[in-house]
Amino acid sequence: MACPDGCGETLVINLDSRADKAWRFDTRGEGLTLFPSVWREGGCESHFIVWRGHILWCDRFEDGNREPPYNPAIEAAVLGAMDDVQPRNAVELADAIDELVWDVNRAAGRLVAHGLARSWKINGGWVFLRAE
Ligand SMILES: [Zn+2]
Repeated sequence: MACPDGCGETLVINLDSRADKAWRFDTRGEGLTLFPSVWREGGCESHFIVWRGHILWCDRFEDGNREPPYNPAIEAAVLGAMDDVQPRNAVELADAIDELVWDVNRAAGRLVAHGLARSWKINGGWVFLRAE
């Protein structure tokens, strides 16, 4: 894909899960979703998320850089997929309920904010546990 910041570079997004580093590719919803984020280590150092056809720039706080609309309807399923003993990350939760990882990650964050779940980092990634 062409780098969305307009620098003119072409980014290679590997979708072959047999390779070491591959992105999940999903076309449910309003457009393409890729997981995890795309982060260029060289050149323009772009870091962005492709989520339901939106480009969401990471660490940029500006007008127009918005997440796709939130649907709270998946919160119950996300909470149901959480365990109260075994912490799970957003990928595991998304696999369990067959939803997009970014949607699940956002819903899980809302559940934490509402005191229904807890989260912390393990090896650099967030995990979630249903609150007692
Ligand atoms: Zn670029």
